[in-house]
Amino acid sequence: MQFIDLKSQYHALKTSIDARIQKVLDHGQYIMGPEVAELEAALAQLTGAKHCITVSSGTEALLIALMAEGIGAGHEVITTPFTFAATAETIVLAGAKPVYVDIKPGDCNIDPALIEAAITPATRAIMPVSLYGQVADMDEINAIAAKHNLSVIEDAAQSFGATYKGRKSCNVSKIGATSFFPSKPLGCYGDGGALFTSDDALAQAMREIRVHGQSQRYTHTRVGVGGRMDTLQCAIVLGKLERFEWEIAQRKQLGDRYAELIKASGAPVDLLPVADDRDCVWAQYTVKVEDRAAVIAALKEQGIPTAVHYPRPLHRQPAYESPDCPADSLPHSNAAAARVMSLPMSADLTEIQQLQIVEALSRALRGA
Ligand SMILES: *Cc1c(COP(=O)(O)O)cnc(C)c1O
Repeated sequence: MQFIDLKSQYHALKTSIDARIQKVLDHGQYIMGPEVAELEAALAQLTGAKHCITVSSGTEALLIALMAEGIGAGHEVITTPFTFAATAETIVLAGAKPVYVDIKPGDCNIDPALIEAAITPATRAIMPVSLYGQVADMDEINAIAAKHNLSVIEDAAQSFGATYKGRKSCNVSKIGATSFFPSKPLGCYGDGGALFTSDDALAQAMREIRVHGQSQRYTHTRVGVGGRMDTLQCAIVLGKLERFEWEIAQRKQLGDRYAELIKASGAPVDLLPVADDRDCVWAQYTVKVEDRAAVIAALKEQGIPTAVHYPRPLHRQPAYESPDCPADSLPHSNAAAARVMSLPMSADLTEIQQLQIVEALSRALRGA
């Protein structure tokens, strides 16, 4: 069993993906070829955002968003410590300071009730992460941002395809940034990402920053990056879009089924709650257990791969720790980091595999 089954997905889409790759090889426009604009139009339509700008990775998407908002030295960005390092890394790369706010103990997303206390005159933006595929509490976050005149950049690397009150992730705040890393809900076969906004000026700024700050060829009106997504990767994502709606529905169903099976097993597992007003795409199907190391070892013995997202919150990472935010602060992030584990998840996971996984999990917990 694989943790994420990309092979079955490729076999289901082989004809279309192969044809699209061949088309790029035939026309030879490897950089900014026609598939780039085609994908941007398709993704803008899918999310409902006015603009989509593809970029070279999810990390680059976050950095470009911060640069386009003029965020840099002397500024602070409020975010969660319970995320992949790229979230805080890009804030530091932009020259600003990440300010961590603790998560809610249930869904592990940033707790909006704690955000206002973290705002200072230096704050410029809030960067919530829609962790595991569930959109953060965007109405509350957007309202705080509006009151204090802050930007909101959704780190939607794990939530592309998720919905919040009928709106799509990436179109629930001023800027949405996602990743097409192969294991994300919509992945390519290398690195890729995209930015979303409905603000024309911001979209223009992000397009320019993506290509070295050029407003026209060899006119560099601002400092930028080499941040384009290549044509081949755009072609691959276009191929994957052909069954993406089915995959979203499938992931939601698999998530519901995991929850039912785990509850029925009676195993001592804490499930992550999904709010009634949103649909989760389960980038990771993550649960919380006691004695995690023993559970993971027992599952491994039974041939079931797992992962931990994430074992150490960013305020406890050597590169990001700071005396302003001691290791024992942010108790919900610390508690989640000690207990979370992710089970195999991909749209092609079968019911039989799910049963095997939950039976093994239940056995491991009884034995542990
Ligand atoms: C994957 C991920 C990123 C980075 O995306 P890349 O495409 O790998 O650069 C950023 N934030 C979160 C929450 C992620 O899961």
